[in-house]
Amino acid sequence: MQVPPLKVYNSLSRQKETFEPLNPPFVGIYVCGPTVYNDPHIGNARPAVFFDTLRRYLTYLGYKVRFVRNITDVGHLLGDTNEGEDRISKQARLEQIEPMEIVNHYTQTYHQLIDTLNVIRPSIEPTATGHIIEQIELAQKIISEGYGYVSNGSVYLDVMKYKADYPYGELSGRIVEELQEGTRELDGQEEKKHPADFALWKKASPEHLMRWNSPWGEGFPGWHLECTIMSTKYLGETFDIHGGGMDLMFPHHECEIAQAKASNGGKSPVKYWLHNNMITVDGQKMSKSSGNFVTIGELFSGKHDRLTQPFSPMTVRYFILGAHYRSTLDFSNDGLLGAQKAYKRLMNAKNILGKLAYPASAGELNAKADEEIQGFCTNMVIAMHDDVNTARVIAQLQNIARKINTFYQQPETLAQISADTFALMRDMFLNFTENILGLKEEKNTNVEPFVVGLLELYAEAKAKKEYETVDKIRSYFKSNNLIIKDLKNGVDWAYDEN
Ligand SMILES: [Zn+2]
Repeated sequence: MQVPPLKVYNSLSRQKETFEPLNPPFVGIYVCGPTVYNDPHIGNARPAVFFDTLRRYLTYLGYKVRFVRNITDVGHLLGDTNEGEDRISKQARLEQIEPMEIVNHYTQTYHQLIDTLNVIRPSIEPTATGHIIEQIELAQKIISEGYGYVSNGSVYLDVMKYKADYPYGELSGRIVEELQEGTRELDGQEEKKHPADFALWKKASPEHLMRWNSPWGEGFPGWHLECTIMSTKYLGETFDIHGGGMDLMFPHHECEIAQAKASNGGKSPVKYWLHNNMITVDGQKMSKSSGNFVTIGELFSGKHDRLTQPFSPMTVRYFILGAHYRSTLDFSNDGLLGAQKAYKRLMNAKNILGKLAYPASAGELNAKADEEIQGFCTNMVIAMHDDVNTARVIAQLQNIARKINTFYQQPETLAQISADTFALMRDMFLNFTENILGLKEEKNTNVEPFVVGLLELYAEAKAKKEYETVDKIRSYFKSNNLIIKDLKNGVDWAYDEN
């Protein structure tokens, strides 16, 4: 199969680049994980599903992937940089519990929901609070390199000093002069040399709940510091892929680059920066105030004004992958209904494929039919290699699904393609559906309606004295460790106690 090499869009160079890992066959990926202070929402689902798919594909290609996704359990302030209360502390205060109870609760919720989306757990899942010492050391290093300063118990990165040596804004395209203009009078502004400076370490105010000792007094790390530490600690000073949502490009990722370069002599920490685009809900930006804020749990339960029914995890996964990761993705009830139908079509095709057998005696080969199938398969790889275009992969899978249906209904057409093409199609369809896109079959686990239905048939057969059917149903129950109970006023079932 002749296909171009894998290319990804690097936000740093603003172009598609051929993917060449630093130390093949190893690939290091770091993705910014959730700040665990509220129920995960659909905006958390997108990067989880997309970067999982990228990881799965690189693994499929034979790379040995180390996938690191952190848990932010301290330091992420409401204002994203130096301002406002710590998100976790605030939630702890509101719920009147310990910050670590907030962290535990929402970490578990995140895991449960993301697991059901068939996202493979990270190879390493470090937490910010587990790396306080390393963060203090990095702040010290930045100070000793001359790019950081202490002010009133806090430590800041000196952006003007950094900018004299390195291009601050290289990732986001932001210009420091513009930042200055837009700056409001915020907490900590008076102690900074320049409004663009950002905190590496913040002095804890007396009421602040999460605090640690440091050379500068009691405080807590700045949000950006944790990702610089946890990515380079586990993946090396320079690693392959750093991912996250587009909203993290500034200030978070820009600051990560500055921290790394300010401490390591100017080496770029990341080879490829990948950013997924944002989601909208019915065409509008999602926000709590506009009432279109949808959590993942609400999608699964259907309990939201904008949803007419529950949507299964695989429907949601299919829906997310149905758009290219750099396009905005609009969540709507109609869109989800469409995804549900399309996902089921793929699963039906998968099940039919399991029943299809290539005929022992080949028929008259039809070169065109053969080429068509091969074309679908090749196009899937081409789409993946064109900046991981899962939307186009899905379109090809649907083309193959249609063919599978035709082969099933008109077996003579199956003999028109070669045995090799059939094997290729089966292999590619299953690999792309299950292993790469991670779309597994959702079996119906609620057997209660089937049991009740069978009992009704049993009662009817009994009334008509159709004893053969009665015995059949009885033995069917028995083989499933259930028994049928004949009561005076009807029938019921129970667990077989023997
Ligand atoms: Zn991060």
